[in-house]
Amino acid sequence: MHICVWGGSYWTGSVTAETVGGSLPQYHVDKQFADRRYKVQSARTYFYLNEATCERNMEVFQNCLHAVAGATYGTGITAIKLTALGRPQLLLQLSEVIMRARTLASEIMGGKGNVIGQHLTLEELDKRLFEAGIKDTKKFLEKVTKDSQGVIHLFPWSGLLDENSELSDSFRVPCLKEGRMVRLLSQLSKKEEEMFRNMVHRLNTLVQTAKDLDVRIMIDAEQTYFQPAISRLTLELMQKYNTEKAIVFNTYQCYLKETLNEVKTDLNQAKRQKFYFGAKLVRGAYIDQERARAAALGYADPTNPSYEATTETYHQTLTECLTRIKQLKDQGDVCSKIGIMVASHNEDTVRFALSQMKEIGISPEDKVICFGQLLGMCDFITFPLGQAGYSAYKYIPYGPVNEVLPYLSRRAMENKGVLKKLAKEKTLLRKELIRRILRGQFFYKPNGNYTPV
Ligand SMILES: Cc1cc2nc3c(=O)[nH]c(=O)nc-3n(C[C@H](O)[C@H](O)[C@H](O)COP(=O)(O)OP(=O)(O)OC[C@H]3O[C@@H](n4cnc5c(N)ncnc54)[C@H](O)[C@@H]3O)c2cc1C
Repeated sequence: MHICVWGGSYWTGSVTAETVGGSLPQYHVDKQFADRRYKVQSARTYFYLNEATCERNMEVFQNCLHAVAGATYGTGITAIKLTALGRPQLLLQLSEVIMRARTLASEIMGGKGNVIGQHLTLEELDKRLFEAGIKDTKKFLEKVTKDSQGVIHLFPWSGLLDENSELSDSFRVPCLKEGRMVRLLSQLSKKEEEMFRNMVHRLNTLVQTAKDLDVRIMIDAEQTYFQPAISRLTLELMQKYNTEKAIVFNTYQCYLKETLNEVKTDLNQAKRQKFYFGAKLVRGAYIDQERARAAALGYADPTNPSYEATTETYHQTLTECLTRIKQLKDQGDVCSKIGIMVASHNEDTVRFALSQMKEIGISPEDKVICFGQLLGMCDFITFPLGQAGYSAYKYIPYGPVNEVLPYLSRRAMENKGVLKKLAKEKTLLRKELIRRILRGQFFYKPNGNYTPV
């Protein structure tokens, strides 16, 4: 059994991004939802106060990386939330840019998704833009890159991690509909540019520390209005740092309708750009807020229509990852090029993962699948998994006591689902106690050959 430590997000301000092809309400601040804890019980929320607070959060995360490195000898994980490291409003703006960029990419390339699997050459692209009457495309075309399979990338996402580049300048792009170059992001003020660079600097510092200490770092998934930015930045971090092993892990929320497609797209990108892919699969912690916000602001609900549909997405996504790992194995490639954490308290999901691993042909010794549950929850799942040789992790909340304790007590008071699972845990503990008394096994030591089913 291993440990994974979990940092846990206030925001202020408004978004004034210029719009191309209409504004996307999902990515705009709304007063009603300014408190991001609204209808969220199980996730910790960081509120933006100032840059100094973000700097302090980074230090807490760094201390945690050091603590994990010292305690776990390369097997531990540190989980962080990106909203703790910078002004969340910037993530919101970047998210809108990314979603608009997808639409523009589809128009220019004629495909769908964030990386377009079309083999359009630079010359063809140049011709297409010329025919649309768009001038002044030179700078844009200079930044378009091509990967090993000849797929061209229209947007300089990797530039996001460049601490010297200006965010608003990166996104002057051609718009076929309007026949001109447009800015996807309104001109940010000097202060906002500086804040974005600070956030990127903190991220680079943390991931470099994680790499130096050989501690994996998981970026938590948050609300959908931040997720395009969080996911994009994490993918770029993976490309930069996951060169010899999966150090950076992204998180995918299976209550979202698009998750399976997102995972497939990201797996394809990792394959093309030859980096190690790390993912934590969860169902998702913000469903009630997501639904309430979508209904109030009048955009399509991004979540699956039912619990069963979420489970289906979870199972399909996990199966997709396992199948790709098996393909690597069969090709004699390094199967750890894909690393997955099954983060769930659901026994059926854990059972499903184990049976799929067996069926597809991935063993615990491959060390590419691990399991995660929160500390104090579902020990009856975590412990047998660890005893049977699977990599099993306990998520331990960390941070300054005056911040972590209120979060924990709020969770205990509000999260009825958690309490239901604790009831089962208490029953099992009582049964075990009685069993030990009846058999005289007061100091019972498990022999470690369990099969968790
Ligand atoms: C180790 C670990 C790390 C985590 N990290 C993150 C993270 O980074 N980001 C994050 O968002 N969450 C995270 N979570 C929380 C997680 O997303 C779930 O909220 C929580 O684990 C409950 O899901 P479950 O699979 O454990 O249990 P279950 O009880 O089987 O599932 C409950 C979940 O099902 C989904 N659901 C419930 N009702 C419906 C419905 N009517 N329609 C559609 N879906 C429905 C919701 O996602 C709900 O939380 C983490 C959980 C763990 C254990």
